Amino acid sequence: MAEAAAKLDSVVPCPPFQLYGRWNALLAIPSDGTKSLWTWAHDGDFFPESILDYVEVLRSSVVEGDRDLGCPRDPVRIDVDLTQDCNAHCLFCFSARYRTRLTTAPRIRLSDLERWLAELGRRARTKTIRLCGGGEPFAHPEIDGVLPLAHRYGLLQSVITNFDLVDEARCRAIFEHVDHFRWSVDAVSDTTRAVIHRPGPGANCLQRSFELVRQLVEWRRRERGAERRPMIWATFMLLPQNVPEMVEFASIMKEIGVDSVSFRPVKYPVHVTWSPLERARLRAGLDEVARLDAPPHFRVFAPRPTWSDATILLPSSHFADCLSRKLRTVVEPTEEGPTFQTCGLMRGSGCHPGHRLESDDAFASAWARVAKRRIPRVAPIECRRCIDISMNRTLTFVLDMLKGDPSARFQRALAPSNASEVSRLTLVDSWPNDVDAACQTANPAPYPPVCVTQVSGAATNLWADS
Ligand code: SF4
Repeated sequence: MAEAAAKLDSVVPCPPFQLYGRWNALLAIPSDGTKSLWTWAHDGDFFPESILDYVEVLRSSVVEGDRDLGCPRDPVRIDVDLTQDCNAHCLFCFSARYRTRLTTAPRIRLSDLERWLAELGRRARTKTIRLCGGGEPFAHPEIDGVLPLAHRYGLLQSVITNFDLVDEARCRAIFEHVDHFRWSVDAVSDTTRAVIHRPGPGANCLQRSFELVRQLVEWRRRERGAERRPMIWATFMLLPQNVPEMVEFASIMKEIGVDSVSFRPVKYPVHVTWSPLERARLRAGLDEVARLDAPPHFRVFAPRPTWSDATILLPSSHFADCLSRKLRTVVEPTEEGPTFQTCGLMRGSGCHPGHRLESDDAFASAWARVAKRRIPRVAPIECRRCIDISMNRTLTFVLDMLKGDPSARFQRALAPSNASEVSRLTLVDSWPNDVDAACQTANPAPYPPVCVTQVSGAATNLWADS
């Protein structure tokens, strides 16, 4: 351990694109060389920024004496809901319940977004802008002007889209300006997709979307080599109607060259009832897609086998303070103007007093104002459910470690899937950038695996809930 720790001084952390799919644990190494601790962690919570970005924000808070992050800090990631408009009407749409109450489809103006991003770029503390919904980002009439902005101001960009409104020119714009996109696929036949997504006129048929993404993967391979940017994650919301297509979906995505697929249970807003036969098909399908997992190039994330029986997890049983809402935020268009929401689950809750971004507001000062009057007031105590449990648990692990040792170092690591309390981890941050070449050798890690202790009650992988 001492040998590995000493060598860590010279390690330059790999960017997330090189390490995606290659780590599943976060190792904390005390500065005095005593026993290291680790917890399960994963990129699903942090990509395309790095968990190490969050470590450094937490470290500076502790060093400055702000041990519980009471003082506002620029958010590391900002979700921007560009528009409340959408071309589809998905059965499982979480925003339908509030979007249908709107008399207009409010949207963020291009000029406002550019002003905020220019400011955030100058301050250099925010890493990522994620365009999501609310509605569908490509339904925003100024989307072609929006896409180049993030890189222009030195920020990473992520997009969540159904891909229905993407043509070849937009596909190329995604390749040029987006670092990561999440693609809601949910079917392989247009018949099933029509039942689930209920798209309006003008949507791509699925075969067209598959062709476009295939082309994007080919551009990536030819022009960026081993750098898988943009990283592509395809998602599949599990419903009795589409379970017969889940295995074919995973096979097609693997063949196209997307980087991961994740199967997610629909827990809300619709209540889904599974017959015994459908449940049996689902379990068989989950087993079959799991066999397609081929890390690091193609990852399959499936919910735990008991998910459909499980009650919704109560966040306060998993972490004591919500760090997520202190390090991230959502900007949502409302009929009263753009407004902050303190977390994704507060979308659609209206424009709370003091939360609106006024036209003459600097982004940072508006955020600082909101940080002092967050709603809910006390989290997670006031939250009955949460989509950031896994991330909050990882951040709590980091903050607890730093409170005891502000100089502690953190490394992304690979733990065996059957990892026990004391396990051997492989340190992956120390891998060379050309990991593919290194992986062809018998032992790709230039440092010996380390033997470390897992924190008690450490996070299980809650990917399906994130
Ligand atoms: S639901 Fe509550 S605990 Fe979860 S991120 Fe939102 S505010 Fe935090």
